[in-house]
Amino acid sequence: MKKTKTWNQHVVKQENKDLVLHTIMRYAPISRAETAVKTSLNKGTVSSLVNDLIEENMVYESGPGKSSGGRRPVMLNFNRMAGCSIGIDLGVNYILGVLTDLTGEILMEKYIKYEYESYEITMQHTLEVIDYLITRQPDTPYSIVGIGVGIPGAVDLKGQVMLAPNLNWENIEIKDKLQERYGVPVVIENEANAGCYGEKKYGVGSKSNHILYISIGIGIGIGMMLNGELYRGNNGFSGEMGHMTIDLNGNPCPCGNQGCWELYASEKGLHAAMSAYGIPPQSNDQRDLEYLIGLARQKDEQAIALFNTVGGYIGLGVKNIVNTFNPEQVIIGNRMSSAQEWIEPAIREKLDGTLWFQKEGLHLEFSGLSTHSSAMGMAAFSIENFLMNYQYSQTAL
Ligand SMILES: [Zn+2]
Repeated sequence: MKKTKTWNQHVVKQENKDLVLHTIMRYAPISRAETAVKTSLNKGTVSSLVNDLIEENMVYESGPGKSSGGRRPVMLNFNRMAGCSIGIDLGVNYILGVLTDLTGEILMEKYIKYEYESYEITMQHTLEVIDYLITRQPDTPYSIVGIGVGIPGAVDLKGQVMLAPNLNWENIEIKDKLQERYGVPVVIENEANAGCYGEKKYGVGSKSNHILYISIGIGIGIGMMLNGELYRGNNGFSGEMGHMTIDLNGNPCPCGNQGCWELYASEKGLHAAMSAYGIPPQSNDQRDLEYLIGLARQKDEQAIALFNTVGGYIGLGVKNIVNTFNPEQVIIGNRMSSAQEWIEPAIREKLDGTLWFQKEGLHLEFSGLSTHSSAMGMAAFSIENFLMNYQYSQTAL
């Protein structure tokens, strides 16, 4: 019995400490007295927990704040530089890595663009990006608190990559490999889920609880925030809507089906239709998007018409998904969002065709974090894991 009681006291203390820490993160600079009011804990408890947090380098004090009559109080601040997080967006033709502080602010980033490569070379690039960021991290008490890698494919709840058709990956395990190499917790997640989370935490999705994040690059993935929670499905495979069939007799897709939505509404869609618009595809087909944006900027009518067509396909798919989920916000993200000017009118036109009652309160937006949503979302996963678990770890990483 005694043991149970001790354990319960321990848990309550940790929960209270977590509450105090999150209150300071949210309201800093804030005094101990105000923290006690906001948390409904007594002043003595708050004081003792704050002392622990200061000792653990999670909180620091700053000069006196405003007085409400008596002595001016010392203010408490969250130590956003207690550690750093690494978020990686592993694209089909690029890798973007960010090093952030514990509020998700980017301290450094590294971007590599390349043509499709084998698994071995892609992993080599990934390690290079992570190594680059690690060797340039600032000196912090907890160092790197975690590494998150967003993958354009189906990732199960344990972080195993089941299938990433555009990378040609099947049943790939990278979580343990990275954890062994770097000795820090690693999170592997679908890149669209990460992008959705990034937009919710730091981008245009902060006020919505029902978000569809449409990640459009070489393929299409959907991240869903339903009732304020990321929806992963039974095994983590929700949102593979890039592979919903929109043409029964359409072209074959690397996923094994034919006529998948992403063949028409992604960078692949642009590439496939270029010749029909009299625009010769680039020798390196993974640079078509930038080339077409360049043409559209010069008012090239064929390029603009092509974006309009692909925008129409995007809108068609989004319309179907909106009718299914009744979201509050649709966010178009990843590389295709840089063509907003030329695809948005066609998307909006198609969305006008959604069932009339779906339109009320529905907002269509383009990514607020631009091409960084996924990398920042991955960094956020590690930060949150760290904030929940750092106090239980025996030694700082
Ligand atoms: Zn497919």
